[in-house]
Amino acid sequence: MSFPTHCKYIIIGAGIHGLSTAWHLGKALKERGDGSGKDVLVIDKTAIGAGASGIACGVIRNNYFQPAMRELMAHSVAIWEEDQEKYGYHPVGYMQISPEPMHEDVAEIYKQQKAIGYDSLFVEGEKECLDYMRENIFHDWQARAITSVLHEKKGGYANQMKSLYRLADKAEAEGVRILSGVEVTGLKTDKDSVTAVETSKGDIQCDWVIAAPGPWAKSFWDMLGLPNQIDIKGPDGKIHTGNQMWTYWCLVEGVLGVEPEYAMDNQGNMPPVIHVDSVAPLFSSEDGSLITDEMWGIYYKPDFGFGGVQGGAAPYIVEGDIQVDPYGIDSPDYTVTPEFVHMWTSALAHCQKRYEDKYHLYKNEPSGGLGCFTPDSFPIFDVMKQNCYMILDSNHGYKMIGVGQLVAEEVLGKEQALLKPFRFDRYEKGELHPVSHSPFPWS
Ligand SMILES: Cc1cc2nc3c(=O)[nH]c(=O)nc-3n(C[C@H](O)[C@H](O)[C@H](O)COP(=O)(O)OP(=O)(O)OC[C@H]3O[C@@H](n4cnc5c(N)ncnc54)[C@H](O)[C@@H]3O)c2cc1C
Repeated sequence: MSFPTHCKYIIIGAGIHGLSTAWHLGKALKERGDGSGKDVLVIDKTAIGAGASGIACGVIRNNYFQPAMRELMAHSVAIWEEDQEKYGYHPVGYMQISPEPMHEDVAEIYKQQKAIGYDSLFVEGEKECLDYMRENIFHDWQARAITSVLHEKKGGYANQMKSLYRLADKAEAEGVRILSGVEVTGLKTDKDSVTAVETSKGDIQCDWVIAAPGPWAKSFWDMLGLPNQIDIKGPDGKIHTGNQMWTYWCLVEGVLGVEPEYAMDNQGNMPPVIHVDSVAPLFSSEDGSLITDEMWGIYYKPDFGFGGVQGGAAPYIVEGDIQVDPYGIDSPDYTVTPEFVHMWTSALAHCQKRYEDKYHLYKNEPSGGLGCFTPDSFPIFDVMKQNCYMILDSNHGYKMIGVGQLVAEEVLGKEQALLKPFRFDRYEKGELHPVSHSPFPWS
């Protein structure tokens, strides 16, 4: 097939958002009798899953302090459930295990989950939490200073590449064409709209562009000539000038090379995904030295795909001249360090006795990668230049498989209430999302 010179809808990026949008757009066009997937082209400079979606640990949860995020996640979880086996989705549930400084925030999350009918359970009190964990989840649970446990019965995790290929199959079944190895080098604009996408293989004229570039968000922001510093109206009602538009964080994740069966729950089943935040001092499981006496957090799950117990810790900000490419495990700069390994394996031992002498089983292979975050660390889903839809998820989004469905509806002219809280103008209007006490930038 020859290289196209025109396509009505061009989607940039074959990650979770680009592929989900492509499938839903193809389907919606057909249902409306207004075209088909043949009007949709996905281009990716590398291949399906070459970005953050391909290295995500795949955790799917509702646990967000921000009401708009929770409602969006509930919508996405329902889409994961529609085709769970083929997406490689494991609905094992998710636990947010927290210290006292987070108690009130998490109690609020639980209250609002009840209000939207999202199935969860809340345990309060230090002894009650310890008993709940030991009796129901892990008999060897030993984390200290935990005063609340939010147990989400839905959610869990999914196998990234399996879900991406499933979405690609669904899109192609609608007639969508997916082209790998085509790099976007620029966006041709007239006054108010994009007229063509410039690529390494030639220009493609279009009516709509949908950019889902993951950690490459800033490149596309720059292609449209959008500002790198913005004003934000704060909760104090004052305008704060000169805020940096994009910040890069390095996500740190790894795998402990035990058999996944070693990590099962009291009944020998797959446990929920565990997320623990703690204010208890964290000591080394190797030599007993103090690692930190400040708030720390980790998450983990047994995962047959990764061949062990896979998880991560809080990310860190990367400054200076950022090279997004080569991305992920190919990056010489943005994969995990020995400090992460020491901290994460010690934190596993802090939480469960069975990991006390297992730090030496850490799999020494590159993992982790960059995320590109907005000023408030929440997504921007918005149309810029009249016909360029930007899906800039601020690194929240493998779990957000449903955003593509909502974006497809908006591109076809139907505004979606679930996406409205994520417009770019929220910064100047001061319509910001509430901020939690979590040590993670994504809670
Ligand atoms: C280590 C790590 C772990 C994570 N874990 C989780 C998790 O457990 N749960 C969760 O919900 N989220 C997680 N995330 C976040 C999540 O992975 C991302 O938010 C999400 O995958 C972004 O999807 P996307 O489709 O927007 O972008 P991506 O998946 O990054 O896809 C963007 C695509 O655009 C292509 N591209 C870029 N520039 C160009 C160009 N110029 N021309 C053509 N193509 C281009 C890239 O090749 C890439 O394939 C994690 C992220 C990281 C880094």
